[in-house]
Amino acid sequence: LWQRCLTHIEARLPEKDINLWLRPLEADFTDEGLDLMAPNEVVRDQVERELRTPIANALNDLGAVPKRIRVLVGGGQKPRATESEPAAAPPTSRHNLDSRYTFESFVQGKSNQIARAAAEQAANPDNMAYNPLLIYGGVGLGKTHLMQSVGNRLLDTNPRAKVAYVRSEHFVNEMITAIRHNRMDRFKAHYRSLDALLIDDIQFFANKDRSQEEFFHTFNSLLESNQRIVITCDRFPKEVEGLEDRLKSRFSWGLSVAVEPPELETRVAIMLSKADYHGITLPQEVAFFIAKRVRSNVRDLEGALHRLKASAQITGTPITVDFAKQALHDMLAVYDRLVTLENIQRTVAEYYKMRLADLLGKKRTRSVARPRQIAMALAKELTNHSLPEIGQGFGGRDHTTVLHACRKVKELRETDARMEEDYANLSRILTS
Ligand code: ADP
Ligand code: MG
Repeated sequence: LWQRCLTHIEARLPEKDINLWLRPLEADFTDEGLDLMAPNEVVRDQVERELRTPIANALNDLGAVPKRIRVLVGGGQKPRATESEPAAAPPTSRHNLDSRYTFESFVQGKSNQIARAAAEQAANPDNMAYNPLLIYGGVGLGKTHLMQSVGNRLLDTNPRAKVAYVRSEHFVNEMITAIRHNRMDRFKAHYRSLDALLIDDIQFFANKDRSQEEFFHTFNSLLESNQRIVITCDRFPKEVEGLEDRLKSRFSWGLSVAVEPPELETRVAIMLSKADYHGITLPQEVAFFIAKRVRSNVRDLEGALHRLKASAQITGTPITVDFAKQALHDMLAVYDRLVTLENIQRTVAEYYKMRLADLLGKKRTRSVARPRQIAMALAKELTNHSLPEIGQGFGGRDHTTVLHACRKVKELRETDARMEEDYANLSRILTS
């Protein structure tokens, strides 16, 4: 079966992933599920992070659905388990929550504080004001983390609460299975008996009419009896094509909150907190170095961290900025290409409604010089270019001019609220 599973995955993943991470695994199917033995922690972590879902999906496609999949570091002594998440739990099973996703481990910043506050309210069983709660926003910004924090908190408060965390794809698959085996009654009864239903990534319901129909009824039934519902979506539901209007309007009955890409300080805090959790010694300057570049997605920040950890373990080197530069070379290159000097110049000129030629030209009146300085400061923060390179790109200026601009902007941002706002806006426009 494992061989068939591998063959199945091979068609879907890069060969590199297969050879590096999947081939070294030994598979052991038991009554309890599937145990995958990894030769070391590096492989185990990678499989946990990136390959668990493809494996579960492949097994699913092959009609073999293990109760759970564990990834263990194999070899002699008792294997050590990491997170064990049921690949496809039957409707009557446990809540499916990942205990690492808590409010405590969630780093708060401007970008997520409203969503977080709303989620904390939703985790209070006595407060049904925000029901349903909808959390929406781009990939990797903490929606699942927040949603599961609600579930974990509810269970902390009342261990007997019936909480179910379900990915929407899973809901769909489960329903299809229920239909096929004539078990729709059980399916319905299960969902309607919950105290809290956390349903993740509802954009997957798009164009699945029967599932939407079923979900709509479940949803209404839960709302009517005042049960808690939390939903996430990768964009505002009104913008999801193929989602029924009645569902869309139902989703917005409670409270809708967005998660935005985190700002630099929050990204650094997240990195440091994850490093701490994983026992990785990460100097702050390295966290800054990475967080300045990896901007849009927290999951990528974590990815960077795990890669650093793996390389540091293999080579036995401490993590420094230079080490990070090398180890993450390819990943950072992708990010560096995203914000170019040109892009910054165009965006700033547009923002201040001025001509690009003036921004790059020689005029020194303040209405031109300020935006120019801001653009240079943004270039320093958002690209990997050196001061001389930035000067060169701004109409052949000297690197000391750029340095001066950066200092000036920093000072103004601290004293002038308007300036700070402009800078933050531009930074957001450029990096989202
Ligand atoms: P989404 O569901 O929005 O795609 P996730 O909740 O899966 O994103 O988050 C991706 C990863 O980033 C998870 O490991 C999560 O723990 C982490 N993460 C995202 N935002 C934060 C945050 N503010 N603090 C700590 N970890 C975060
Ligand atoms: Mg998610």
